[in-house]
Amino acid sequence: MSDTPHYDVVVVGGGAAGFFGAIQIAEKRSGIKILILEKSNKLLAKVRISGGGRCNVTHHCFEPNVLSKHYPRGQRQLKKLFTRYQAQDVVNWFEQRGVKLKVEGDGRMFPTTNNSETIINCFLREADRYSIKVLVGHQVNKVRHTDSVITLTCTNEQEFTCERLLVAAGGHPNREAYKWIENLGHTVTPLMPSLFTFNDSEKKFVDLMGVSVESASVQIAGTKFRESGPVLITHWGLSGPAVIKLSAWAAEYLAERHYTFTALVNWTGNVMEDEARKELESYCRDHPKQKVENNSLYHLPGRLWERLCEQSEIEKTRVWSELSKKQLNKLVENLVRCQFKIKGKTTFKEEFVTCGGVDLAEIELENMESKKFRGVYFAGEVLNIDGETGGFNFQSAWTTAYTAAEAIATKSLK
Ligand SMILES: Cc1cc2nc3c(=O)[nH]c(=O)nc-3n(C[C@H](O)[C@H](O)[C@H](O)COP(=O)(O)OP(=O)(O)OC[C@H]3O[C@@H](n4cnc5c(N)ncnc54)[C@H](O)[C@@H]3O)c2cc1C
Repeated sequence: MSDTPHYDVVVVGGGAAGFFGAIQIAEKRSGIKILILEKSNKLLAKVRISGGGRCNVTHHCFEPNVLSKHYPRGQRQLKKLFTRYQAQDVVNWFEQRGVKLKVEGDGRMFPTTNNSETIINCFLREADRYSIKVLVGHQVNKVRHTDSVITLTCTNEQEFTCERLLVAAGGHPNREAYKWIENLGHTVTPLMPSLFTFNDSEKKFVDLMGVSVESASVQIAGTKFRESGPVLITHWGLSGPAVIKLSAWAAEYLAERHYTFTALVNWTGNVMEDEARKELESYCRDHPKQKVENNSLYHLPGRLWERLCEQSEIEKTRVWSELSKKQLNKLVENLVRCQFKIKGKTTFKEEFVTCGGVDLAEIELENMESKKFRGVYFAGEVLNIDGETGGFNFQSAWTTAYTAAEAIATKSLK
């Protein structure tokens, strides 16, 4: 008999998907022997720092179809998975374990304690209750799969065998982190960061840092990539929900262009050029004696309006009736198509996710099992799934982990 420790299930990754998956398996099948292997010395590290230390657990969107629309990668697959396990189920799961979630104005959901430790403590308590063994400092770097057993080798040369393997190793922009998965025989799609802000190479609005517009829209010039919402001017360029959302949807396009592109900001939100021109012309007629610079339209912050006037070569003393056609046209242009020459990106509050991962074409979506290696399952960001900011990335981790756990727990073990 071999001395290699044997488990019914080994979970690779002591993060969100790994813990949630392991606990779900244990809840669904009593007496099952589960081991979590974590490469670092910290468990649930991203949960701890997530949402600025508050953990944005999910999003208040309980309609599977609508929820799935927040995922640039994995949307079609998640639409189906969310019909079985979605945000409402997550809220209920935590509540049944004494963790109440609250919703904020923008739909993000946090523990009422405003502390990610609440989520971590819940997971550690549940894992302990089901006697799930957890080993830190164990980085898996090799998997061998035969019909009878799965063997894992760690960098410290320790080996483990199991009947079912749940890979919940998270995302990483470096391909090296996925080498052991590729060596097993899975395809990993191109990897690149998602969720970032834009660096303005000209820094033309840098002195307006901190100014934000509630309902603007941002488009990538020459493409259909366009998102609406709050835009924030920062000391390096543009940020805010509309920009971060755009970075997610255009992650692949922008990476191909090495983050060098033109962003067009419509400060009015959705007002089109002709409509804006008509509105400005009517303002000229109705307020002929007022100074243009003092009359901010579309509820824009005064400082931004002044800057748009300045960029349109409108002198400080100019009144509406004296506005030349050229100045009016320039103002319209700056209002609805304000150009920013972007070069580079900046991480958004340290939050980022990886676009790319294990190819979904190689996964059975009903149960998250590998189509190539029976008994091997995947969950979380290691997959080619990522969402917008707002709790969507944890939600896909919970849902894929739940789906895998259900299948692992119900399949007969040898
Ligand atoms: C700063 C920050 C804030 C965030 N805030 C939010 C938020 O508020 N809401 C939200 O929805 N999303 C947020 N995200 C994204 C979210 O944290 C991730 O999408 C989520 O953690 C993915 O869960 P996971 O279990 O798949 O991966 P992870 O949580 O990254 O866990 C994977 C684990 O596997 C381990 N591992 C990797 N390779 C191996 C190996 N070979 N052997 C053993 N162990 C291995 C890693 O060390 C890690 O602990 C944030 C991300 C960051 C970086």
